[in-house]
Amino acid sequence: MNKTIIVSNRLPLQIKLEDNKLEVTPSVGGLATGLKSVHQDGKSLWIGWSGLTEEELTPELSKEVKALVKKEKCDTVTLSQHDLDNFYYGFSNRTLWPLFHYFMEYTEFEETFWASYKTVNQKFADAVLEHVEDGDTIWVHDYQLLLLPKLIKDKKPNTTIGFFLHIPYPSYEIFRTFPWREQLLHGMLGADLIGFHTYDYERHFLSSVKRILRLDVNFNEITYHDRIVKVDSFPMGIDYDKFYNSALKQKNEEKSELQKRLDDHIQSSTEARMILSIDRMDYTKGIPNRIRAFEYFLNKYPEFKEKVRLIMLAVPSRSNVPQYQRLKRETDELVGRINGNFATVSWTPIWYFYRSMPFGNLIDLYTSSHVAMITPVRDGMNLVAKEYVATRTEQDGVLMLSEMAGASKEMNEAILINPNNFEQIADTLKYALEMPLEEQQSRMKILQKRLRRYTVEKWAEEFMKSLHATKNLGEVIVANRLNQTIQKQMISGFNAAERRLFLLDYDGTLTSFKDNPKDASPDQNLYKLLDELQSDPRNHVVIISGRDKETFTEWFTHKPYTLITDHGVWLKEPNKDWVALERLKNDWMENIRPILETFVDRTPGTFIEAKKYSLAWHYRKADPELAQTRTLEIETVLTSLTSNNDLSVLKGNKVIEIKSSSVNKGRASSRLLNGTNYDFMFCIGDDWTDEYMFKELPESAYTVKVGFQKTSAKYYIKNTDEVRDILNEFIHKS
Ligand code: UDP
Repeated sequence: MNKTIIVSNRLPLQIKLEDNKLEVTPSVGGLATGLKSVHQDGKSLWIGWSGLTEEELTPELSKEVKALVKKEKCDTVTLSQHDLDNFYYGFSNRTLWPLFHYFMEYTEFEETFWASYKTVNQKFADAVLEHVEDGDTIWVHDYQLLLLPKLIKDKKPNTTIGFFLHIPYPSYEIFRTFPWREQLLHGMLGADLIGFHTYDYERHFLSSVKRILRLDVNFNEITYHDRIVKVDSFPMGIDYDKFYNSALKQKNEEKSELQKRLDDHIQSSTEARMILSIDRMDYTKGIPNRIRAFEYFLNKYPEFKEKVRLIMLAVPSRSNVPQYQRLKRETDELVGRINGNFATVSWTPIWYFYRSMPFGNLIDLYTSSHVAMITPVRDGMNLVAKEYVATRTEQDGVLMLSEMAGASKEMNEAILINPNNFEQIADTLKYALEMPLEEQQSRMKILQKRLRRYTVEKWAEEFMKSLHATKNLGEVIVANRLNQTIQKQMISGFNAAERRLFLLDYDGTLTSFKDNPKDASPDQNLYKLLDELQSDPRNHVVIISGRDKETFTEWFTHKPYTLITDHGVWLKEPNKDWVALERLKNDWMENIRPILETFVDRTPGTFIEAKKYSLAWHYRKADPELAQTRTLEIETVLTSLTSNNDLSVLKGNKVIEIKSSSVNKGRASSRLLNGTNYDFMFCIGDDWTDEYMFKELPESAYTVKVGFQKTSAKYYIKNTDEVRDILNEFIHKS
């Protein structure tokens, strides 16, 4: 039975070492809850770091840890203090975290951090490879392990790998500054499914992939070598029932000390209100800004003095990183200043806690606050916002949420604010504090409905469902890989045949693409290869191309091959003159050309190639996203213009070509077939225009697509290097 392996930086366990004694308790965090059913059901294993370094553990204790976690279906990756300092506190938290949250000024591009990141990702890979078998499913989590999917896939291609990023994915303009950007992207693309919290992160990632790696992206699918990588958004939810039920239960239980103090304030006046803020002490959370905005509010609307109180819980985090220490100091000072300035004998505006609180106290805070003010400057998701909503059993209360939090994308009924706009925050806070109960409830109702349905379990389930679905992705849309067995069969067919036809496309098949088509002239090896193939009198070598006859005259007329140019307009047989296969007019060009020129003007990096019987608009060097929009535009414009003409618009490989409808490579190749009774046919090409040939040839022909795309060809191979390998096979195995 195949298994599922979950991999995250930390295991879902708390492992404590006291007086040489180990204690293991399961974590209660969101991820652990969400993945519970994935991890508990069937055969599964969770791999991660135990939380204790090599230095803290003797070899015996290390074994003991392994044995203890094994009972929880886990295994550990061993990390040293050096790994922790450089991979975790260094690269993960001082490079990736700030960069992915748009804090470029905090981002440190340190070679030693990067080296350690690679080493530790390899350690995780080794731990996975120890257990993984063909057919297994692996789900890798978060920014500490961006290189892991590739490390596993390279060694174990027959596995299904999912990756989920729990933090934002930044815009291309930010990501491009990263010195090891290609490696990170390739690392992630080892996965079959890549998940993000929001569509925006997904969009940014696809944009990086298109621009940096120049890969083809079709909606949310990336063509990556011979695989399709799917990218999608899965907004993570919470354990809704846990929060809702705890809130209900605590209403009827004896009050905690904290609850009593909160009640004191609430009951001090009918106008008393509480505003809640809960975050990890992190610069992405906008804590100082929130305090300043609260101060601004008190100055702008002094009538709220002595009535509202901001309860601020900041949970200590990464306190050995300098920026976090500075943030802590800044927060302390701000709270001190504002409390000093505004406090009266019976009122302090901010109640500030710098610690973590037990679950029960968190529920007290959530249920007692009239407004939750959650204003991160950047946040992958923000679960606190969702937890606040889940605890509002009376459906009252108002959620003020930053637009910069991933959660805002699915929480439209919250009041969304820009965390940098104090004027807006102050006005919104007033609005929230004065909001009629009816409006509170109508907003809360909708928010709760969605959260109740899309819980963290559902999130995990949806991800796994999508991940399993990727198993069929490759097979559905493409031909079969031309493997050894088929090659053998093909070569024996070839050896037995007396009249063999080779239909060979030129660009993207016999040679690879260059930025300028003029630079893609044949190299000496190609001539040699074709000469050898043609030297057997049983072989008929035909190069069939969209190129014009002038170019092919220059390149090939001294050679004994048959040439077909302009997508099938001209034919030249060895030692004969060019003959026209089609009678064509080209007076349409003077109307179409100016239209293409307007596109060239507006799309840097594109140009027109004027052939005798067609016009081609090349966009290989253009910005891929702009080019995508422009190709849609150009197709619409041209299709409407050419509908009454005898013209067709062909989409090639990074080129759009307009030519007479009656011409195509399929028609040209069937003319060849009419002349001779071939008993072996091999046809190969890489783009859309070659599909006409694939469709036209009889069933017995070997039709081969270069590249991993939708095709009518029977087989596919990866690239132009493989094309030459196969042609060599024909020469040497005959
Ligand atoms: N939380 C906690 N103890 C506390 C305060 C908060 O465990 O004293 C939890 C809170 O319930 C929430 C999580 O910490 O589930 C914070 O998640 P969020 O997505 O808001 O922010 P992150 O820390 O992941 O950036």
